[in-house]
Amino acid sequence: MKIYLDGKLVDKDKAVISVFDHGLLYGDGVFEGIRSYNNLIFRMKEHIDRLYRSADAIGLKIPLTKTEMIEATINTVKANGLSDSYIRLVVTRGTGDLGLDPRKCKKATIFIIAGKISLYPEEYYKKGLAIITATTRRNIPQALDPRIKSLNYLNNILAKIDAIKSGTEEAIMLTHEGYVAECTGDNIFIVKKGALLTPPVSVGALEGITRDAVMHLAKKMDIPFRDKMLRMEDLYDADEVFLTGTAAEIIPVIAIDDRKIAAGLPGDYTLTLMKEFKKLTKSDGVKY
Ligand code: PMP
Repeated sequence: MKIYLDGKLVDKDKAVISVFDHGLLYGDGVFEGIRSYNNLIFRMKEHIDRLYRSADAIGLKIPLTKTEMIEATINTVKANGLSDSYIRLVVTRGTGDLGLDPRKCKKATIFIIAGKISLYPEEYYKKGLAIITATTRRNIPQALDPRIKSLNYLNNILAKIDAIKSGTEEAIMLTHEGYVAECTGDNIFIVKKGALLTPPVSVGALEGITRDAVMHLAKKMDIPFRDKMLRMEDLYDADEVFLTGTAAEIIPVIAIDDRKIAAGLPGDYTLTLMKEFKKLTKSDGVKY
């Protein structure tokens, strides 16, 4: 496996970074998860734009232009001979000292891994996931805005531990006011009376690229769509629930907190969107 590290493609065991890197010491950095299908990198521009927006939001200067970053990403996937892949793009503040001061980090560290990912066991894409509401609340945007895809994922990991402890794969994170934000690594949608609803990102959620692709599909398919503040009651009472994310793609949810959603089976809208999404990934993207 070849890894891109600071301008070079190196073997996996040579891809090492300093223990003084602030990405490691403090989670001070940003990242993206991108997929390629059939030698097409899906929504490449959107991912790169979000990476640079996240970096801007934490005052981190990426020492590559967007074009150079795209080139580095494509070269990494090609070097690994993958036609379908999951690409992890990471930019850290770089090597500093043991204090927090980002000024001590003179140059950002950049690495790109092109591999595979399987977020949930395959069977759940057919039968649907049973999930829970996490006791861990989502970070408030005024403290650490969930729109920033930073390396500091402890908030999400604590919610993931809530899910694991309850014997499930995933957990819904609420805002401090009790509104539905998102899951630990996915956005959430419901279907109610033929309309698609999802929490606005301003509530405190990542502006998901898969979420956006689903909204575009809904528009094309004439499915009414709205973003709306949602409470758990709206979810329990939904006709369908599903999650979206680059790693997860689209996955049905059939129960929340031991309550069945409608009949407790993946719904028609979800199944149709899954099919359309698959088609989209096979035809839309940057070729390599
Ligand atoms: N929310 C969170 C917290 C995430 O980490 C992710 C990405 N894994 C998503 C939502 C989905 O975003 P995207 O569709 O851009 O992958």
